[in-house]
Amino acid sequence: MSRRRAAAAFAWAFAAAGMAAAAAALTAFRPPPSTFASLFPEDNPHVRDARFAVSVCGGVQCRLCPWNCFLPEGARGRCRVRMNSGGKLKTLVYALPAAVHVDPIEKKPVYHMYPGSLVYSLAAPGCNLRCRGCQNWEISQVYPEQLPPSAAVPSALAVRKGPDGRLYGELSAAPTSVLSPAEIVRYAKATHCRSVAFTYSEPSVFYEYMYDTAKLARAAGLKNVMVSAGYINRRPLDELLPYMDVVKIDLKGFTPAFYRRYAGGDLEAVKRTLLQLKKKGKLTEVVNLVIPGLNDSQRDLAALSGWVKDNLGADTPLFFSRFMPEYLVTDTPPTPAAVLDEAREIAMAKGLHYVYVGNVPGDPGENTYCPKCGRALVRRYGYAVLEDRLTPTGGLCPWDGTRIPGIWK
Ligand code: SF4
Repeated sequence: MSRRRAAAAFAWAFAAAGMAAAAAALTAFRPPPSTFASLFPEDNPHVRDARFAVSVCGGVQCRLCPWNCFLPEGARGRCRVRMNSGGKLKTLVYALPAAVHVDPIEKKPVYHMYPGSLVYSLAAPGCNLRCRGCQNWEISQVYPEQLPPSAAVPSALAVRKGPDGRLYGELSAAPTSVLSPAEIVRYAKATHCRSVAFTYSEPSVFYEYMYDTAKLARAAGLKNVMVSAGYINRRPLDELLPYMDVVKIDLKGFTPAFYRRYAGGDLEAVKRTLLQLKKKGKLTEVVNLVIPGLNDSQRDLAALSGWVKDNLGADTPLFFSRFMPEYLVTDTPPTPAAVLDEAREIAMAKGLHYVYVGNVPGDPGENTYCPKCGRALVRRYGYAVLEDRLTPTGGLCPWDGTRIPGIWK
């Protein structure tokens, strides 16, 4: 091994050890009972009545997600952000920003809506799964009390012409601890975003905040995107869907054992969500994070692709994304591009029309191709759109008129 490669390997191992220690410290944290009280001053803007609660003997039951947590007085759900207080189910994260960014829509990744546009992307803390390789564990696997006191919130985007004649954007951001739905809509407009995304952590568990924001955003002419693991019950999803334009589902693997051991969840519940989205006719994109040695067998990839094709349809966009070592999975290398390319070939052989490779800038699998003539319709490099033939035609292939599913104008 060259000295350079040895140094790089050492740096990677060192970073991995540091990440594991930080993750252990965070996950070991349990808010002492005294902090519960501090959550409930009269004017705490983050504590609100939560929906989908049922009173049961000795407590309340939350029916927002498949855990259906039974919560005695003072207890929190598995998501860490819903709680029984005084016999009432409360959300603890309303208007509580954990991460807020103006992103290219390609970063979600969403490829079949407004290519090259900006999306106002936000998360509150919490998640109802426990993925060992979570790429956003600092905000998903924490209690609300563990967040820094404020987050930088983008509030305006000034666009000016540089001396080279090109356009440059300058983003203004200010630290805040309360971000209301109305402010999100105002800031999304002021930063030239065409949509709002509920993303990074698990938006299902900040349902009330997401629902109110999506409703306002829709009324203001913005589109809404939910990026989720799909671990949500039927009724809450049904009530939310009229306000969502695109739903991105992270289908983490395709065996019940993998879901149980890696994510701490139930594969069947996620499949039910996907079938519900199909039944409602919602534009749905699916992503699978391919982790070497854990969910990358040809058999699993073929089973996942075949199920998507047979149950959601050949036009469902499916992404295979590169895993980077994170959180509790630090001893596994990043997914080789060749494995992702092979996964893409397997899925296309199953008959899927739009199969993408994610997190590998420059891979031909980043482009959208016409399923009939095979020409590239949207060419991408990473999060950048190099060429877009679909927006001007409203989603038609300019060569043979094939309609590509999506929201283009
Ligand atoms: S949303 Fe949270 S509290 Fe409600 S059922 Fe799911 S994990 Fe439990």
